[in-house]
Amino acid sequence: MKAHDFHATNEHDRRQRRFDFTVHKHPMVRNALQELFHGKCAYCETKAGVWGGLEIEHFRPKGGVVRPDGTLLPDHYWWLALEWDNLYLACIQCNRRHRSSTTVAGAARPEIVGKGDRFPLEDESTRAVVLADWEQLANEKPLLLDPCRDDPTEHLVFLTDGLGGWCLSGSASSLVDPGWARIISM
Ligand SMILES: [Zn+2]
Repeated sequence: MKAHDFHATNEHDRRQRRFDFTVHKHPMVRNALQELFHGKCAYCETKAGVWGGLEIEHFRPKGGVVRPDGTLLPDHYWWLALEWDNLYLACIQCNRRHRSSTTVAGAARPEIVGKGDRFPLEDESTRAVVLADWEQLANEKPLLLDPCRDDPTEHLVFLTDGLGGWCLSGSASSLVDPGWARIISM
């Protein structure tokens, strides 16, 4: 079954299942991405080998998006799964959801970090419709900085408490969750 047919079936019938995209895992694609990203994570620039191998990451998730309220949009953004402009390299720490802990003012603060299936927008109502083209997708205002398009110096500053960069994504600064900021700043 092709991806388009899979996502055209009833959502209930495909619950617990995801379409298995494989073409983007071809060694030729991986090698090209390795060269393009200089063997580093697109988000934190960690080199391959520090956290294990780098993974092929979909900037806009291919298997559904988990919105900030925890609900799932199951059809976003499968049609970009094989789009070159949506393929990045990322380390496991940035790419996968996992428990972590940071120390703030001497106190450990446990949290769940990592991008996973998240792709939060400044305004959820601007979420592109299914099968939207790149022109329509450009109207979305992602809270996650795009390492291939955004200039980090326009959005990141260093804090005096030593935590590192902080996302000041334009007018969205007050909406940015610290967990998201840390993904792109460390
Ligand atoms: Zn990383």
